[in-house]
Amino acid sequence: MHGRRLALDGGTPVRDTMLDHRRGAAALAVAERAAVQEVLDSQVLFRYGASRLGTVERFEGRVTELLSVRHALATSSGTAALKAGLAALGVGPGDEVIVPAVTFIATANAVVVAGAVPVFCDLDDSLGLDPTHLGTLVNERTAAVIPVHLENVVCDMEGVLAVTRQHGLPVLEDACQAMGSTYRGAAAGTLGELGCFSLQLEKNITAGEGGVLVTGDAALHLRATRYTDQGGQFVTGRGGTRGGDVDEPFIGENLRMTELAGAIAGVQLGRLPDLLEGMRSAKRKILAGIGDRSGLMPRWIPDREGDGGSSCLWYAPDAELAARFVSALQAEGIPSARLYDGKTVYANPAYVARRTVSAKRSPWVNHPTDVSYRIGMCPRAEDLAARAVGVAVAPGFTANDVEDVVEAVLKVADALL
Ligand SMILES: *Cc1c(COP(=O)(O)O)cnc(C)c1O
Repeated sequence: MHGRRLALDGGTPVRDTMLDHRRGAAALAVAERAAVQEVLDSQVLFRYGASRLGTVERFEGRVTELLSVRHALATSSGTAALKAGLAALGVGPGDEVIVPAVTFIATANAVVVAGAVPVFCDLDDSLGLDPTHLGTLVNERTAAVIPVHLENVVCDMEGVLAVTRQHGLPVLEDACQAMGSTYRGAAAGTLGELGCFSLQLEKNITAGEGGVLVTGDAALHLRATRYTDQGGQFVTGRGGTRGGDVDEPFIGENLRMTELAGAIAGVQLGRLPDLLEGMRSAKRKILAGIGDRSGLMPRWIPDREGDGGSSCLWYAPDAELAARFVSALQAEGIPSARLYDGKTVYANPAYVARRTVSAKRSPWVNHPTDVSYRIGMCPRAEDLAARAVGVAVAPGFTANDVEDVVEAVLKVADALL
């Protein structure tokens, strides 16, 4: 293989067309169409609109069964599930919420929108919260911790929970990218007080948009449900007045899932075990094919058996090589990406400037201490994000596709490293 010219430099690419890496989206088929048609025929597109058991409620029931968790609340998005979770925990102005320095920006945005201040925690080699740094960030204003399980890899939850339990802090898992992945046999999202999933188009399963919040705690579930329903307009009666024995009335918003989304989500959830098996199998074969020949350092996976398998991720020796490696793989027709452009969330201009839609809405303005963000804050996260090289793995990969990925990674490694 030595000396083969990269497609990036004008050589022949491993593949003529980009390898399709969609998951649930690529599985959308007649069953989803039939389920949507049924809702349309019923003319009830609203979850609290009929006396029959609706698609959203059925979906919630199936989520509790599949993930072995007591309660599930479907929402309009993964971000909505995060917001409902923070609301259920009572997080608001004056509070700090610890989030990983590298994640999809929604994790931190949900905290800001709740009126609280995100505090960024450094990462370990799993790209999850580093428990050691986490311990140093906790203070009397810390109201919650949000670990994120990027690309179906559950972070070091044993380490994270040791810290949060020591301080009595609630954990809201952002498992938006990890539905069906596990950690020591337990489903991602069920390890903390609350867990969130997304059903956006690029996630394991999809309804285009959608989300789910899960919890083992009935009071948190009721509070979250009411929050997503204007305080409980439909769940507990106008103004949430019938919830008085559980909680005081409070003001919420509308983050409800539609019956159309529920219909699609229900069918997709049934596909999840097969989708995961497909990704895991393809990933095992890719890793076996590459062996230790790439010269790249692999991402640490705290529980290998629970890995949902949606990506292979390695660290290149430096940021420049990582960027070049990713461009080279793309040119070979392999779905490769850097990790959020190789940057932390706080490197985003809006976070650097701590700008919300108006200064009046800024949670930092009246915060008791100056929480500002600067490059260098979380050095390990900055370094890992800059050097990460990801390759997407999809359940639809054929034996040939797997061979192409292996060939391309080795070809590019041979040329660049
Ligand atoms: C996708 C995602 C979200 C937000 O989900 P939406 O459904 O797009 O609102 C939040 N956190 C992470 C880590 C995500 O990947």
